[in-house]
Amino acid sequence: MIVAMQDTASEEHIQRVIERMVELGFNVHRTTGAAQTILAGVGTPEHFDVAEFKVLGGVHDAYRISSPYKLAGRNFRPEGTRIIFPNGVVVGGKEVIVMAGPCSVESREQILDSAKKVAAAGGKFLRGGAYKPRSSPYSFQGMGVEGLKLLREVGDETGLLVITEVMEISQIEIMLPYIDCFQIGARNMQNFNLLRELGHVRKPCLLKRGISATIEEVLLSAEYILSGGNYDLMLCERGIRTYETATRNTMDISAIPVLKKLTHLPVLADPSHGVGIRDFVPAMALASVAAGADGLLMEMHPNPDKAMSDGAQSMYPDQLNHLVEQLRQLAPIVGRNVA
Ligand code: PEP
Ligand code: MN
Repeated sequence: MIVAMQDTASEEHIQRVIERMVELGFNVHRTTGAAQTILAGVGTPEHFDVAEFKVLGGVHDAYRISSPYKLAGRNFRPEGTRIIFPNGVVVGGKEVIVMAGPCSVESREQILDSAKKVAAAGGKFLRGGAYKPRSSPYSFQGMGVEGLKLLREVGDETGLLVITEVMEISQIEIMLPYIDCFQIGARNMQNFNLLRELGHVRKPCLLKRGISATIEEVLLSAEYILSGGNYDLMLCERGIRTYETATRNTMDISAIPVLKKLTHLPVLADPSHGVGIRDFVPAMALASVAAGADGLLMEMHPNPDKAMSDGAQSMYPDQLNHLVEQLRQLAPIVGRNVA
């Protein structure tokens, strides 16, 4: 940590800051220039809040120089994390992984048809919510455990892995036998109790970026899961809320290379929630892979005009086919290929 004192700071101010730094466990190096004193705190005390220093008397500003997330940081595993699924599919390797399916599981027929289309397009994971976080309590809330059973059944029938959203701790046990990967939705990115519990399961997790979360907040949320011992974790950019209203969210493509630099965890992109309009999804999917995404999580519905949720952003099956063909051409340019 670096603390820059004001040029008007008294010796008493400086000593008070030094005392507090030492108390926390920092080794303090003092540099006194013509006008200003700089205090460099070396060491990594477990608990400290840089904001505490910013408001101490005589302080001009204080900065953290070590990252607040230890296990999620790139240094922890410079070679990158690879998540190996039971059928041999790897996320975080050279291959870009396509995960697709409807927003929600609606019926056996709908999810089976979806799974067949995802598999035919070259997808490796079937997505579909059985428990849905909806803005309105009157909207379709998902099929619950019946939806989980259908996901497993059609996943097995078509050779696809299953990813679905977990909304609360009580659902973890219920979901475990049916799924291959937990999805933590944007609204739950900072549900710290849920994250802690997921740190104790031995099943991969995909953590979505919160609607207004900074990249540092995403990584701190990841830290909750990693610190429980669950290292099979991937992150997912899914658009953030900005002042722009032409799209549902603003797809933050820049978060992808930034995250790839800051963390060893695989980074996926969800362009469907990112833009919210199906015809713009392929462009954002291509851009995400060009930017370094390890995979895509996308909504595709066999009949999106009749979908019970997110129909407007769900691609038609042909759009998904065409997009995967384009991804196969694009991926080699960035040293990847589509699994
Ligand atoms: C979803 O994937 O259907 C979903 C609800 O996503 P998000 O949590 O990103 O809004
Ligand atoms: Mn959705």
